[in-house]
This record gives sequence, C-alpha cells and structure tokens, in this order.
Amino acid sequence: MDAPSAPPTQAPPLQAHVADGLAGAIGNTPLIRLRRASEATGCEILGKAEFMQPGGSVKDRAGLGIIEDAERRGQLVPGEPGIVVEGTAGNTGIGLTLVANARGYRSIIVVPHTQSREKLDFLRMIGADLRLVDPKPLRDPGHYVNTSRRIAEELAAKGERVIWANQFGNLANAAIHEATTGPEIWAQTAGRVDAFTCACGTGGTLTGVARALKARNPKLRIVLADPMGSGMYSWIKTGEVKAEGNSITEGIGQASAVPGNLEHGRDSIDDALQVTDPEALEQIFELQQHEGISVGGSAGINVAAAIKLARQMGPGHTIVTILCDGGARYQSKIFNPEFLRERGLPVPPWLA
Ligand code: PMP
Repeated sequence: MDAPSAPPTQAPPLQAHVADGLAGAIGNTPLIRLRRASEATGCEILGKAEFMQPGGSVKDRAGLGIIEDAERRGQLVPGEPGIVVEGTAGNTGIGLTLVANARGYRSIIVVPHTQSREKLDFLRMIGADLRLVDPKPLRDPGHYVNTSRRIAEELAAKGERVIWANQFGNLANAAIHEATTGPEIWAQTAGRVDAFTCACGTGGTLTGVARALKARNPKLRIVLADPMGSGMYSWIKTGEVKAEGNSITEGIGQASAVPGNLEHGRDSIDDALQVTDPEALEQIFELQQHEGISVGGSAGINVAAAIKLARQMGPGHTIVTILCDGGARYQSKIFNPEFLRERGLPVPPWLA
C-alpha cells in the first residue's frame, strides 16, 4: 500500500461552493413548491425555507445584517471584546448569538418567559446570557425591548464596547433582506413572481423583500399577513392600529405600535390579510403530514395567507411566502395535544 500523502501544510483556497464560516452559510435557502396549496388554488405557491438556516430561522439574516452593520460603523471590532444586547421573541437572539460567537463577542438576550421552552433552551445551549422577563405592554419600562435598551445603556456607561441591536428600529434589519432574501426570490423564480406575502414581527423581512421585488417589478403585489391580536392589518387597511383577539404564534404581530422597519416599507405594501390560528394550524399539520415539511406558527400564518391571496388573484399566479422557522421549535406548544386542547385548537390526527 502507498504511504498516505502528507497533509497539506496550508489550507487550500476556498472553492466557490464552500461557505466561509457561519456568515457564509446564512442565506441562499431553497424555494420550495408547496404542492397541496398550489394544487388547491391553481397557483404556484412557493415557500422560502428559512427553517433551514444555521440557527433555524429567518432571523439569522437579521442577526448577521445588524452585527456586520455595527462592524462597518466601528461599534464592534471582530476579534476584540464586544457585547450584543437585544430584546427578542427568541429567534433574533439565536441569530445574533451565533454570529457573535463566530466573531468573538458575547450576547445578552432578553426574552419574555412565555416564549417556547425550545427557543429558551437553545439560547442557553449556545451560550447567550439569557434574561427572562414578564410579558408587559410596550409602554412599560419592563417590556423586553425597553429592558434590553436599558441594559445596553448601562454597559455603555461603564465603558463597555456594546451595541443594542434594536431589530425593530434598526434599518440594517430590512437592508439585509433587501440585499439577500428579495434578490434570491427574484433569481429563484427567474422573475416570474406575481405576489409576496408574509407576517411581520419587526417588518424587516416584509419591507426588505418588498423593496427588492418592487424595484424589479413595480406591478408585483405585496400583502402583509397578520395574526389575530395584532393591529398591523387595521393599520394597513385604515391607518389606525387596532388589535382584536389573540394568537399562539410567536415572533409576529404588533398590538400597539408600528415598528420602524415596517414603516420603512409602507409605500411598497399594497394590502393586508388576517389569518386565525385554526387556519394556520391546518396548514402546519397538512404540510407536515402530507409534504414532510415541518414549520412553526408564523409559517402557518404565511401559507394560509398565500392561499387566501391566491383565491383573490385567481389561478395562474406565482405567490411566494416565508417558512420562517421549523416545527421542532414548538414541540411543547403547537405539537402538544394538551396545550392545543386547553385552547380549543385542533390536534394533529397522528398525535391525538
Ligand atoms: N416568524 C418568526 C418565528 C419570528 O421569530 C419572526 C421574527 N420575530 C418573524 C416571523 C418575523 O420576521 P420579521 O421580524 O422580519 O418581521
């Protein structure tokens, strides 16, 4: 047998298809044709598989966009100590923490304790300094966003190199979707896309994608999808923020204020649709059972909205939406028969 050749003393240059670390692995997710939704409507309904991101959600993009923006401004310096502070429903905290780990920063992540156990466990697992708070209205100083801003201000006053990521107001969030998610959708459909719909937490995804797609085709329809308990549907329809009902979905909907990242895209948004939890759950369970695609609550809202939009527009259209995160992030809620029964919601037949 030949002796093994000596190991290379120097790493070979990266090939075009090799991702350069975590940052290079964020984005470029598949666009999946959703068979049943497409067949039921005579449209092509396509879901951007953001649940396949390294951190498991669409918010990896925002995490990368916000940290890279802070580095360009000199607020963080790669390899030197730095702290990223954020208030989040969980997914942005995961994206920020993974990118922070890759760059040598620490993260302090403030989350309401009502968010799914799976997200909180994941944050602890990856080393975030997790601070749980009670859910409070936005005007309350104890609200998770206000708490995170205060922590960042206190650290800055002590002379730490720290950023408050501020995903709701920081337009680096929408900008990364305008630079990546939107152009990816345009390229993946070869420009044959008639409409885009998704729900908004910060509005970063909707605004960024809307601006990118409208710049390429001003006739393309952009529709906000809203869960119950959120006032963004009425804001688009009437200009007034008015919320009714509630939802088990996480990370989407705003009851009282329009986030800066959503406001930034207002001129590109044509209409809004409201989706109930039972409508979203039907899509989540059917996607999982019949197409093997496991998604979380906001993706269910989005797919149900895409189907409603397809029925409004009629057959023959291509409609794109976002599959924001995966079902495994909500095993204790959306896939927990007890949790669902307590709320009078349908239970997936294979778990009943
Ligand atoms: N879905 C999930 C599960 C999320 O965590 C978020 C972000 N909070 C969104 C959707 C909404 O994304 P955006 O903040 O870009 O509006």
